[in-house]
Amino acid sequence: MRVAPSGPIRYALAMPLREQAICIRTTDYSETSQVLRFLTRHAGVLSVLAKGSKRPKSKSGGALDLLSEGQIVFSQPASGAMGTLFEFTETVSHLPLRTDAGRLDTGLYMIELVGLLLGEGDPHPEAFDLLHNALGRLGDADAPLGAVLAYFQWRMLRHAGLLGQLSSCVECDTPLDQVVSARGSFFSSARGGLLCGSCGCSADEKTSVSPSAISGLAGLQAAHGRGGVSLSEDEVLGVNRLLSYHASYQLGKPLRMARYVIR
Ligand SMILES: [Zn+2]
Repeated sequence: MRVAPSGPIRYALAMPLREQAICIRTTDYSETSQVLRFLTRHAGVLSVLAKGSKRPKSKSGGALDLLSEGQIVFSQPASGAMGTLFEFTETVSHLPLRTDAGRLDTGLYMIELVGLLLGEGDPHPEAFDLLHNALGRLGDADAPLGAVLAYFQWRMLRHAGLLGQLSSCVECDTPLDQVVSARGSFFSSARGGLLCGSCGCSADEKTSVSPSAISGLAGLQAAHGRGGVSLSEDEVLGVNRLLSYHASYQLGKPLRMARYVIR
């Protein structure tokens, strides 16, 4: 354990730090450099300047791509100025994602959602593990892309505290299994959850929710913590559509990748 020295250190240099990280945004900074945004396991989301990263002989072996996962060595000045990336060593190859448009689009949707939901500076080890596992699963030959995304969206929104009330009508508390009625059922982001047919009539902002979406949500809820959930294709479609709608409303804008991924 390092003990902080006593007395003021006016010009202390930031010590290089090491983190397991996934690249969630890349921006060209100059001919040869990039600004990279990472989700790290212990330091949360952070942006660093990668000087010379686009040179073929850089320590990262050329410009870094979205979804690159590995160990980063970087500095993080306490002043709030942007840190510097010194080194990137790939530890997980997400090659299968780069060779299949469906897998790649789903992965890009996931990192877009992460980048919009999580602010910089707070640690999110649970979100890191969730993204790491989801990207790994997307690379499996038999990966059910929609189901992986449905679980990811549900867990990510839950982690961010934005899931809303999905176990009963948010207005009258009608339980989930009775929310499906002849008058339809709805979800309102503004009201923060599911609405039964009667309560939904008076809501200005709402989207109609299919019985499949409701049973899919119930499946995710019931399986949480026990692992392993099997959703039908209709349930997957319904859940993904609903959670994407809700995320867009909460974020105040549609996700760029939604039109390629959400059907
Ligand atoms: Zn109600």
